Amino acid sequence: MDKLQKTKTRVYRFGNKTADGNSSMKNLLGGKGANLAEMSLIGIPVPPGFTITTEVCTEYNELGKEAVLKLIKNEVEKSVENIETIMGTQFGNTENPLLISVRSGARVSMPGMMDTVLNLGLNDDVVIGLAKKTNNERFAWDSYRRFIQMYGDVVLGMKPESKDDIDPFEEIMDNLKHKRGIKLDTEFTIQDLKDLVYDFKDAIKKKTGLNFPTNPWEQLWGAIIAVFNSWNSDRAIYYRKMNGYPADWGTAVNVQAMVYGNMGNNSGTGVCFTRDAATGENVFNGEYLINAQGEDVVAGVRTPQQITLLGSKRWAELAKIDETIRAEKYPSLEELMPEIFNELNEYQKKLENHYRDMQDMEFTIQDGKLWILQTRNGKRTGAAMVKIAMDLLKEGLINEKEALLLIEPNKLDELLHPVFDPKALKKATVIAQGLPASPGAATGQIVFFADEANKYKNTILTRIETSPEDLEGMNLAKGILTARGGMTSHAAVVARGMGKCCVSGAGSLKINYKKRTLTVDGREFHEGDWISLNGSTGNIIEGKVATINPTLSGEFAEIMELADKYAAMKVRTNADTPKDAQIARSFGAQGIGLTRTEHMFFEVDRIKAMREMILADTVKGRKQALEDLLPMQRSDFEGIFEAMEGLPVTVRLLDPPLHEFVPHQLATQKDLAEEMHISLEAVKNKVAELEEFNPMLGHRGCRLGITYPEITEMQTRAIIEAALNLKEKGIVAKPEIMVPLVGTLQEFSAQEKIIRSTAKKVFEERNDTIEFLVGTMIEIPRAALTADLIAEKAEFFSFGTNDLTQMTFGYSRDDAGKFLPIYIEEGILSVDPFEVLDQEGVGQLVEMGTKKGRSVKPKLKVGICGEHGGEPKSVEFCHRTGLNYVSCSPYRVPIARVAAAQAAIKE
Ligand code: PEP
Ligand code: MG
Repeated sequence: MDKLQKTKTRVYRFGNKTADGNSSMKNLLGGKGANLAEMSLIGIPVPPGFTITTEVCTEYNELGKEAVLKLIKNEVEKSVENIETIMGTQFGNTENPLLISVRSGARVSMPGMMDTVLNLGLNDDVVIGLAKKTNNERFAWDSYRRFIQMYGDVVLGMKPESKDDIDPFEEIMDNLKHKRGIKLDTEFTIQDLKDLVYDFKDAIKKKTGLNFPTNPWEQLWGAIIAVFNSWNSDRAIYYRKMNGYPADWGTAVNVQAMVYGNMGNNSGTGVCFTRDAATGENVFNGEYLINAQGEDVVAGVRTPQQITLLGSKRWAELAKIDETIRAEKYPSLEELMPEIFNELNEYQKKLENHYRDMQDMEFTIQDGKLWILQTRNGKRTGAAMVKIAMDLLKEGLINEKEALLLIEPNKLDELLHPVFDPKALKKATVIAQGLPASPGAATGQIVFFADEANKYKNTILTRIETSPEDLEGMNLAKGILTARGGMTSHAAVVARGMGKCCVSGAGSLKINYKKRTLTVDGREFHEGDWISLNGSTGNIIEGKVATINPTLSGEFAEIMELADKYAAMKVRTNADTPKDAQIARSFGAQGIGLTRTEHMFFEVDRIKAMREMILADTVKGRKQALEDLLPMQRSDFEGIFEAMEGLPVTVRLLDPPLHEFVPHQLATQKDLAEEMHISLEAVKNKVAELEEFNPMLGHRGCRLGITYPEITEMQTRAIIEAALNLKEKGIVAKPEIMVPLVGTLQEFSAQEKIIRSTAKKVFEERNDTIEFLVGTMIEIPRAALTADLIAEKAEFFSFGTNDLTQMTFGYSRDDAGKFLPIYIEEGILSVDPFEVLDQEGVGQLVEMGTKKGRSVKPKLKVGICGEHGGEPKSVEFCHRTGLNYVSCSPYRVPIARVAAAQAAIKE
């Protein structure tokens, strides 16, 4: 480490269309600092400031406070001077003060993990100057009390250490509210705020023995060091560990001039998007409030106004507001401040072109001057994500690969959910209209409180407005409805992020939390009443509305086509019925990777024959029962093969332990005894006999086919006969017969022998043949370890990563639910290995199995059919390992297709 390198640059300035850094310097300046520099460079007016590099954080950790402050003192002082020159104000000046913010900024965003100090530079004298200058005494004193509170918490160690400790500042405020008989911070008088400042300082003195620093420079050094310290706070360390970020990255410190949108009617603040975050439509849009602070726009307390005239007119139409009233009471920024609007419009175009993605920006107008505070790639719904990616491609802003990389595979799930049936919608009664905040179709029973969102199976969380505490309830509800708040309200933004249907700002709704009622146009709805929300139109509909399945069309179909162009792996599906096979095929599945035959035996007419087979004492009796099952299995396979015409279908032989098929309750055992004309005792004995200590490691998989070869014979016959029957109809079936739970070559060989001899018999009987493969699941560690031996016989491998995970970790699939959540909470595991493939451990077996298998058969077809086949990170791993395909449930097929393409592109 270059401790002695006194001359290197440690502070990078930005502002006034210049910057020492740029967006490529995220490692040195942190994400926020690099983007602020970049914006300044391309001529976007960001409040001027400077970034102290992440390297200084590391130097601080090694050299300590005094040495580091010495190293940066000169540069920081000059950089503050630079801010003063640009802003025309002065740090610490009592007439014309400069106030600043001090924020952390690591190379990746670590939301809420580190510390921030706002309004820095205030003291007893400066506050008076600020009040005079802004002509707003309340604003000045409110800023001052917030500053002392934040500084006290972050720099002076006043923050309570545990949840049970009382925050001294909150306690002081609560006491004052109680004394004054008020509830809200906004109800404090100017005198109250002055008293708070006094009491806060007193509390600091009492706890730390120190006076609150009045010298702005002292305040600044303290804040810089506190931000560095926050890199090593418990929260930040935990977050870093969870995400695998190394400790030596360090955080940068961003120091910036404060700007205020609440300085009067020539000030304001807002949020805007370069495209519609709900639909993806290419229209600039957003909301603002005059004389307000950032939180006021998203808090949903005041009705925000639209930025563009077009947006404002659309909004008024939905809110049923007359044009004259709109223009008078809720004018757009475009009408109210046309020059500012034009400037903002230019910046939004510039930023989108520059970052080549939809931007979500925050701005503040301070006394007639526009400042851009932040830009970032905007959060969007699944539908918007797909449309924006394809539009940017068509506009020539990005190429095909970049378009695919803009897709977050899991978000496609939103597009696969049911939509309202247009026929049912025509007959529906619309009771009110809100804003189409987040698209989708939701039908559910009304609940008014987030913690009651799971009171019924399907709920619509109905609120005047939502707040961060409602997050969990919002997630549980089928849809969200609010009476207040615009398109950027908390409810709207969060719902879009979750891909949840949301109608916001339905002003005609009167919600009474106490009575738990919703009144609209004189009609009263109660908790538990059914309503439906159309998140695409903002319609609120009485009762339930029928839904239909969506189709892959438009931009969604286009992006899927692109995915297939770049993906190296194929995507198959796990399907046990013709219907599932059909759905998967409509989502682009290129075959079936796993048909679990056991599911077919649970249907009412089959379970009886299955039980007869299990209860039979003799081979003859068992064969008789299997003969009854044969035609049913055959017709199942015909249906599935037909749905997958021309594509490969992997059919797995019976896998689960037999006790799963016998009744365990006395009543059903009695029924069975009667039906089979045997004693209840005999049934009970058989059930007891089938009981196992560890069924997951017991008599299942190929162990069944080896002990009861008749089962393998029947299933093989059903498969081959079904394929031959279809052949007669001119339909091509491509069965791949798969042996489950193989651990040794001998197990596989024994089953293969039965399969091939049965097939031969059927071919002879029918005087016809079809092509088929015989392969195996690799789901026992020993199979992966001896894959080279097994591959001598097996024609394909399919990794059953559910069992492979179970047996590699030694976590029972049936019991892991008891301890895995705790493991995840405690950070022992970062994710559930049954959901996301454990590449470090189980992944080694997948790699080894593939390599060993192909060392014998270089072209061996290898796939995966465990749940991981539809999980994007695991799909990427499968691509890197050279698998031929992944197989997943029908609704995950589009997700896996994009994940497979992205894996190939990223390589
Ligand atoms: C597996 O074990 O991964 C698998 C696909 O089979 P099952 O889940 O049916 O055991
Ligand atoms: Mg398995």
